[in-house]
Parts: sequence; structure tokens; C-alpha cells
Amino acid sequence: MPPVIEVKGLYCRYGMTHALSDVSFSVEHGDYVGVVGPNGSGKSTLVKALLGIARLDEGEVNLFGTPLADFNDWHKVGYLPQNLNLFNPIFPATVSEVVGLGLLAGKSFPRRISRTDAARIDETLEQMGIADLRRRLIGSLSGGQQQRVMLARALVNQPRLLILDEPTAALDPETRDRFYALLAEINRTHDTTLMLVTHDSATVGSCASRLLYLDKKLIFFGTFREFCASPEMTSHFGDAAQHQICRLH
Ligand code: ADP
Repeated sequence: MPPVIEVKGLYCRYGMTHALSDVSFSVEHGDYVGVVGPNGSGKSTLVKALLGIARLDEGEVNLFGTPLADFNDWHKVGYLPQNLNLFNPIFPATVSEVVGLGLLAGKSFPRRISRTDAARIDETLEQMGIADLRRRLIGSLSGGQQQRVMLARALVNQPRLLILDEPTAALDPETRDRFYALLAEINRTHDTTLMLVTHDSATVGSCASRLLYLDKKLIFFGTFREFCASPEMTSHFGDAAQHQICRLH
């Protein structure tokens, strides 16, 4: 089986800004990769490059063994964006309808929700523990509940790869922990490959199987065990920062 993500010698620039230089790594089926790095280290650029919305100046990106330029199986890829913009309280869509939008994206015209789709939506809501909210207006829910709905929308297609860009930034710590637990469960039980971008390097160590540390180039990619035992990483980050990432692992 080819790697789910394969990045080789990737360079991305915005004018004179070198956002990513010579980044190479592979993500295998079933991996759970935590992507961390300081502000401006190129995390969002990497996500955009993987989703085909950032220009690659040099290098290659393959998804499921297919070069990005030829990749058409976008239904295999789920994406949960940064910055949860809370819905207006009277936004006229129910939770079921919002989750259903995740299915429409993969359909050709005419785009309708079939009976099978409705069953899939219900099943996903059930799995996310929000079945009781299905008829509620999305805007009437709390931030944490809305984020679960958006996760359900990203998962309803049953993607093989789910990419999440700082999905917990707007959540309180307790809701955030529940959200992380849910992601770990999705990774385990659905066998979904996860790539989670987060500023929360300490917490991600307790759930992700691999760490990708970015600072305009690839500083580290490997397991947490390797990261925590690496003298190179100790000299790069200093004892304290390495310990902070490794403490919960
Ligand atoms: P991160 O997600 O780690 O904060 P980004 O990928 O957003 O990092 O940014 C990497 C670098 O690229 C930063 O220096 C940022 O200012 C720059 N950058 C990001 N997006 C753009 C853009 N659309 N135009 C110009 N510069 C950008």
C-alpha cells in the first residue's frame, strides 16, 4: 500500500518569504501525526499544500500514491479548518443539514440527500455523541458542540485521511480534551489516518503516534519516543522544552 501522504523536497514561497524549504516525509496508513511548530513556521502552508490550494514551488506531494496534480479522490480526504466561526444563532440550518453538506460535496448534479445518506448522517451523529442535537439549529449550540458537528461533517464521507488545522483553539480545556479523545477513537476504530496541526505540543504527545516539528523546514519527524530520546532534539530545543513535549507521553 502506498503511503497516505508522501512529500518530497517541498518548497513553498510567498514572494520573498520562504514558508517551507526542503520538506520531506511520509505518513503511513493509520498514523496519527501531530504537526507542531512556532507561529509562522509554515504549518498552515503545509496543510494548504496537501490540500492542493498552495502553490508548490518545488518538490512533490503524493496522496494515496497519486501525484497531487492527478489526484481526484477528494472524497477520501476530510478537512476541518482553523478558527471556528460560530454560526449566527438564527442561521437557518439544522445539525443534520450541516452534516449532510459533507456528503453533497462528493456528489455530481443533481445533489440530493438519499435515504442511504440520511442513514449515514444519523450514524455519524450517533458516533460523535450528538444524535440528540440533530434537529437543533446549528447556531443555537455551544462552541464545543458546533465543533463536533463540523467534525461530523468532515467524517460523514468516511474519509481515509482527516486533516485538522488547530481545531481546538476556540474550545475550553475540558471540551478540548474530549475532542482529542474523540480524535484518538476515530483514529483507532475507523482506521482513519489523522494529521492534526496544533500549537498544543504538550497535549498532542499524549494522543498522536508521530510528531512532525516544523520551523520553515522539517526539524523532526518520528515517534514521540524517538523525539524524547533524541540528544539532537535536546540540543535543538533545550531540556525544558523537550521535557514539556515529552511530559505527558
Ligand atoms: P503557521 O501556520 O505555522 O503559523 P503559515 O504557514 O501561516 O505558518 O505562515 C508561514 C509564513 O508564510 C509566515 O511567515 C507567514 O507570514 C507567511 N505567509 C502565510 N500566508 C501568506 C500569504 N498568503 N501571503 C504572504 N505570506 C504568507
